[in-house]
Amino acid sequence: MYLAELQFKVIADTNFNRAESAIRRYIESLIFNGQVLGREFPTAWQQDSFNCRLVLPDEQALKQTHHSTKGLHALQQLASAGLAYPQQHILGMDLMSQHSDPCPNADFYILYSRFNDTCSPVRCGEHFAPVPLYQLNTKAEDHEMLIRWQLQYQALDEIQMQQTRVLVKSAERSLQQLNSTLNKQGRQLARQLEKANNKTVYYALYSGSSNNCEREAVKPCPGCGGSWRLQQPLQQLFDFKCDNCRLLGNIAWDCQSPS
Ligand SMILES: [Zn+2]
Ligand SMILES: [Zn+2]
Repeated sequence: MYLAELQFKVIADTNFNRAESAIRRYIESLIFNGQVLGREFPTAWQQDSFNCRLVLPDEQALKQTHHSTKGLHALQQLASAGLAYPQQHILGMDLMSQHSDPCPNADFYILYSRFNDTCSPVRCGEHFAPVPLYQLNTKAEDHEMLIRWQLQYQALDEIQMQQTRVLVKSAERSLQQLNSTLNKQGRQLARQLEKANNKTVYYALYSGSSNNCEREAVKPCPGCGGSWRLQQPLQQLFDFKCDNCRLLGNIAWDCQSPS
């Protein structure tokens, strides 16, 4: 990932509120299209310009050719708020985040997220590296649904990772039950992604605890009841894979002996 600065020069009469809301609309359109990562974009007003700090999935991410219709519209609206088209400066690689996938054409994708990710929830099946969402096709206007799903997934994962959980079991249930609203939404989004990109998309089903650790290694696929155990784990993370249900799974963390 790359750290970048986006500079919006003031070119006509404006006021702080108009400028702020035009910038916000533009950058949110980039976020929901996967061109900018994270939800925060600290912005400073410096005399004749506004300067935002952003994390990009790659150096090409902000090109206008990648914008959604919403993004192009928000770009046009900057002028009526007295702002010029933004100028981009790449400050360098972000040392704190994962590198985007190098594959021009991955074999398959995995929809996967964890609380501490600061990247796309779509991973390359071979490298497990995040695939920038703006590079993927969608039948919708942009990737907002997928990003909103990821926000909720991460929030629940964050809760269930805490030592003193405020929601004792419900966060974990949302993550690990196949038919929770969260997982239904996620699998639906994976199917849409698969159709729009003509590429297999697996959904990574989280497993934290089990009430039967002895049977955990031979548990059946929760989708079809079939056998789905892999001989070799995939990405050292997934012990199970069902091609019919497009599911990946792991032996519940609580049942794995500490190595
Ligand atoms: Zn790859
Ligand atoms: Zn299955």
